[in-house]
Amino acid sequence: HSPPPGYGRVVLKLSGESLCEANGFGIDGNELQVIAGEVAAAVKEGGQVAVVVGGGNIIRGATLAAEGHIDQAVADQMGMLGTVINGLALKEGLESLGQPARVLSALAVSSVAEPFIRGRAIRHLEKGRVVIFVGGTGNPFCTTDSAASLRAAEINADVLLKATKVDGVYDKDPKRHGDAVRFETLSFDEAIARDLDIMDTGSFAQCRERDIPILVFDMKKPGNIAAAVRGEKIGTVVGA
Ligand code: UDP
Repeated sequence: HSPPPGYGRVVLKLSGESLCEANGFGIDGNELQVIAGEVAAAVKEGGQVAVVVGGGNIIRGATLAAEGHIDQAVADQMGMLGTVINGLALKEGLESLGQPARVLSALAVSSVAEPFIRGRAIRHLEKGRVVIFVGGTGNPFCTTDSAASLRAAEINADVLLKATKVDGVYDKDPKRHGDAVRFETLSFDEAIARDLDIMDTGSFAQCRERDIPILVFDMKKPGNIAAAVRGEKIGTVVGA
């Protein structure tokens, strides 16, 4: 027997914006159901799906701190709490579709979510539950991208799926240049050298270190998360 195609265990990074309308704020019920449906469909592909959810639809610490009244360390705590809110919404969205899910937090919020415990996360995944990692890394001055590469490394994920608003990595800004060309693959070194604003350099470096490929793909295209889990050639694969 040849192994089944696709990835066994994935970490899917969803920005907070995936839960609201483009450039919107907070959580939009319709967008939530759409993204929950996409995640649930991806689980049906047979893989284990862990999600790291962002919080930019609620608070971005650096932006809030720049207004000058709130220390960034505190603004970042507020941002991390925003990811907890998003994770709870996503869990409810998934479970309303019949897909079991659990929320594991890097911040202590024990009355609303389980603490992040590696073995527990893996056990949930083995039982077919979607694991939603919230609270980022638990540390200020980080982003949820850092959390995504960290968790991917920690749970030995086969791939980090980076859901974005563009369908991959281009040689120049596709919005401004009609002749921009999308890469099918890109090395970590190139991704870092190009200083792509798609993901933190530190996250690329961490995945390079652990040999975890990153698939950059368009989250709003229906069926794309499932296609990514199946290992289809969508978007751009950043790898060794
Ligand atoms: N954050 C943090 N530490 C982390 C992850 C997130 O302090 O490890 C805070 C930070 O203020 C950030 C906010 O949470 O701006 C929301 O996360 P992010 O901006 O990564 O969300 P996304 O852009 O993915 O929606």
